[in-house]
Formats: sequence, C-alpha cells, structure tokens
Amino acid sequence: MKLFTASVATETNTFSPIPTSIENFHESFYARPGEHPDEPKLCTAPLWVARRRAREEGWQLVEGSCAFAEPSGTVGRGAYERLRDEVLDQLRAAMPIDGVLLGLHGAMVADGYDDCEGDLIARVRDIVGAGVAIGVEHDPHCHLTEKRVAASDVLVCFKEFPHTDTVERAEEVVDLTLRTIRGEIRPVSSMFDCRMIASFPTTREPMRSFVDRVKALEGTDGVLSISIAHGFPYADVPDVGARILVITDDRKAHGDALAAELGRALFAMRGRTAPPYLSSDEAIDRARGIDGRVVMADPTDNPGGGAPGDGTQVLRRLIERGVQGVAFGPMWDPIAVRFCFAAGEGTRLRLRFGGKTAPASGQPIDAEVEVTRLVRGATQTFAGGSVPLGDAAAIDLGGIHVALISNRTQALGADLFTGLGIDLEASRLICVKSTNHFHAAFAPLATEVLYVDGGGPIPRDPRQVPYTRIKRPIWPLDENPFA
Ligand SMILES: [Zn+2]
Repeated sequence: MKLFTASVATETNTFSPIPTSIENFHESFYARPGEHPDEPKLCTAPLWVARRRAREEGWQLVEGSCAFAEPSGTVGRGAYERLRDEVLDQLRAAMPIDGVLLGLHGAMVADGYDDCEGDLIARVRDIVGAGVAIGVEHDPHCHLTEKRVAASDVLVCFKEFPHTDTVERAEEVVDLTLRTIRGEIRPVSSMFDCRMIASFPTTREPMRSFVDRVKALEGTDGVLSISIAHGFPYADVPDVGARILVITDDRKAHGDALAAELGRALFAMRGRTAPPYLSSDEAIDRARGIDGRVVMADPTDNPGGGAPGDGTQVLRRLIERGVQGVAFGPMWDPIAVRFCFAAGEGTRLRLRFGGKTAPASGQPIDAEVEVTRLVRGATQTFAGGSVPLGDAAAIDLGGIHVALISNRTQALGADLFTGLGIDLEASRLICVKSTNHFHAAFAPLATEVLYVDGGGPIPRDPRQVPYTRIKRPIWPLDENPFA
C-alpha cells in the first residue's frame, strides 16, 4: 500500500493590504520532500501522523512539498499555481498510489481562484481517478465549498478554537482514509449551509457544549466524522460562512438529517458564540479593578486573520493612560527591529514603531525606549510546534514592555514574551494580538481574560466588512436567511 501526502496552506484575507507571495510561504514554513521536520506544523499534521502509521504498519508514504504562509492578502496567481503544480507533479511521479492525504488550511484565495483547495483537490482527483481515497484536513476557518467536498472522500476540520487538536483530527483523517482503502468503510458526505458569519471560540459556551455534543455523536449510527466549519469572514468570495459536514458510512439520509439538525442548532446560537468586546478604555478600566493578572486580547489586529499586526491604537491608550506593568505583543515592525539591533541591547533611543501598513493600523508610536533584549531567529510555541518570529526585540517604554517581531504572526505561546526576557509573572496586564489562539497558553496565566475591539483592520462585525461577492441572504447581513 502506498499513500502520497502534501500540504499547501494559507488563510487569505482578500481585504488585507499585504499581498501573499512565494517568499511569504518560504518565510513561514516550506519543506520539500524529505525536509519536513519531526514535529507537526499547523497544517501538516496528516504528514506527521502518516509517517508514524506507515512505519508502524509497514506501508509506504511518499512525502510531497509542504508550504504554509501566515494569513495575508490574495495569493499571486503565479505563486499558487507554482505550489499547486509542484505538488501535482510529485503526485504524478508517485503513481500508482492507493490514497492521498492533504493538509490544507481551506481558506486560500488566489488571483483567478476563489476556491484554491477545491481546484487542488479536483486536480488531484483527476490524476488519481475515482478508486483512490483522498483524505483532507482543514482548519475550521475555511470556505467549505461543494467542489472540495465532492472531490474528496474524507474531509475533517479541527474541532477546537484555539486549534489544539490538529494532530488528533489528523489521526482521524489518516485512519478514515486507510479504512476506506481497505474497504472497511464507504464514506458519504452530507453538508448543511448554516447561512451565517460569526466567530466560534470553543473555550466558552455555548460552543463548548456544542462541540462536545458533536463529538459524542461520532461513532454512533454510522457517523464517521462531523466537522463544524466556522468559515473565514475576511474574504470577498461567494462561499463565506459556517457549514456542517457529516460523513457517514454509506448512510446518506441519516447524514443529511443530522447535518441539517446540527446546522440549525448552530444557527440558533447566532449572536451568542463570540465573547463581548470592550473598547480599549473600558478594558483598561476593567483591568484596573481586577485584583490579579489580566490578559487582554485584540482580535481586530490579529495577523492570524490576515491583519498586519502593527496596529497601535490599544498601545497608545495604555501609554496615554500611564498603565504600568504591561507586556504587549506581538508588534510587527521589521524596520524598528533592525534599528534596535543597530542600537544594541541596553541602549536607549528614540524609536518610531508600528502603525504603518493599513489605514486602520493607527499612527506610529514615537517614544524613548530601552532595548532590553535582542534575539536572532526567535520562535514561539504553538500546538506542539514552533512558529518563527524572525529577528525580535524587547523594548521597554517605561513600564510597558513590547515584543517587536519581524516575521508577522499572532500571539500563540508565552515564549513570545519570555523568550525575549519579558517577565510575565511580573506583569499585571498582558496585551496580545490574537482572536482566540492565545487562549491555550495565556488564559492559565490570567485571573481574567478580556476581549477588546481595538478598532484595527479586521472588524468584529461582519456588517462592517465590505463584501461585494458573497452569496446572500446570510446572517447578520440579512436578519433571517431561512425565511
Ligand atoms: Zn483557524
């Protein structure tokens, strides 16, 4: 038995002013065949799991290229086609095979391609033919189009947000794909379009119970897998929005009914799945009244959603209001990092940083700072893997410690700060740019977690996103899409 695996992944914010090029993939993660490290990367868990299973069970795994780019703007047509064709050429060379395992984020948009994953999976299907099993792992922040579901046999989304279960879900993808090859199951997909755009952190109710309910249904009545595709709101493509995908062992009618039941249950939770968002000042007031350490997250400048991550609005309010004992990060500013390296550790200098990339990034901060730590090629930890920060600098604005990075990414691990010598134990307030991925590492450090609407480039309310091509009706743009 022989399987092929590869990974092409990014989450495209078509409204982002930062174009996505081949260099962005090389900067975040790129491994040619045989180069993948012995740890799972965010979208390469199928490869990592399959490597172990192949070794244990004595089948052959052909590794193709794996590429991931930090979310940003539309991918250049040439960049997408080059990555796609690289993988397809490797697949052709590996033929004949019994199965394909793809680690795809699921929200990649390129010039001329609204549905990159649908395009890629359909081309894989054309090469391998109808009898070969195709298993796909997706991030729930994907556009779950009919095309990709039809072209694959097994498609599984991560269930947790923050995405702490990428390896667990990859085990399922590999397992279900192997069982399909062995003729033990016949996976059949049923999808329900929830006609809604929302954020669904699974660290809070009602999503926590909903995910647990869905997990309990798996393995009963022929249900092989259930995915809750949250959707990714910041793309101007027709298929934005939440969907439920149920895969049964050849029980289509039951799958259809269950997908509809769960989809309607999710729709009934609309308006209640995301946390309340405070203004910067409300959050600062609240934090001052809390006895203990507070973590404050601003999702509106989350690079994980394609925002630049150099927004200054929240930081400016902290400075203006004289808040002390603060750890703030990450702030993406490669030029400021260069200046810090030029100045050297322990130096005080006038530094301009942040506020460069998007109209909603705010004005740059001009401050006298002390460079407290410089690290070449810094990293942070997330879901068992390391995420590159590039060259990074810690600066002290007088009680406010900022982590400046040169490789754009959100706050994922506490080592974003501690790796730069910023003492979180001594911090009263930790401010992060992230929607919910920060939660796994940072919530345990906090007496309370506050979510703030910092007014950055990715608005929390979908009604503020300037869609032109989305399929209507859809909530909350339309009050009742099922009317
Ligand atoms: Zn995601």
